[in-house]
Amino acid sequence: MGVPKERYSRITGKNEREICLLKGFPCAWGKCTFCDYTEDNGKDENAMAALNREVLHRVTGELGVLEVINSGSCFELPEKTLKDLEVIVREKHIGKLFFESHWMYRRHLAAMRKRMGVPIVFKIGVETFDRDFRERVLNKHADFRDPQEVARYFDSPCLMVGIQGQTREMIDYDMECLKKYFKLGTVNVYNNNTTPIKRDEELALWFMEKYSWLLDDPAVEVLYEITDFGVG
Ligand code: SF4
Repeated sequence: MGVPKERYSRITGKNEREICLLKGFPCAWGKCTFCDYTEDNGKDENAMAALNREVLHRVTGELGVLEVINSGSCFELPEKTLKDLEVIVREKHIGKLFFESHWMYRRHLAAMRKRMGVPIVFKIGVETFDRDFRERVLNKHADFRDPQEVARYFDSPCLMVGIQGQTREMIDYDMECLKKYFKLGTVNVYNNNTTPIKRDEELALWFMEKYSWLLDDPAVEVLYEITDFGVG
């Protein structure tokens, strides 16, 4: 993934919202084997906050819902940006936010919900509920045992499908957990990037065929291309 060109977009269709791709500090974990997001992280807090402010100025509030993503967790955004977000929520009458966070910040979610003062849909990169594949192959550093544990903190898991080494059974289990324990979710059909984790073309095709009904499920967003959300 290179440095993104487009940082503001609108998602139409399912869960309509404005979306901003902001810049944050490097992911505190940073060791997932499939991840090369770090190119869009920074260390200069003032420069990142200034850039983020410019992006956030494009938010109109007309959909009442705003999603913020940042190649990491919302807790890695500059403090100034979080303050700007509080202002935007108030001034643009945002009624709901979508934020993203790694499992390691789970005990901070409640304070963030309180701070923003509006409901937050917390997304989490689960990738798969198969613990062995998630921890051993993907090195996700998210050692929860079952989906119920995730659902106690988070609203919307992001799952990845079509990776070499993943099986059809794992994907079936993931889709079952998604529908059983969560109101919302995102499924990313894996795309090759600069890491050694590779796409399994046959598995990706099998998924798209078997789970084509998910495309019509208002609660699940299926991303086939990395830029499907219009940012990045
Ligand atoms: S937690 Fe997210 S940003 Fe951090 S290394 Fe893993 S995939 Fe990348």
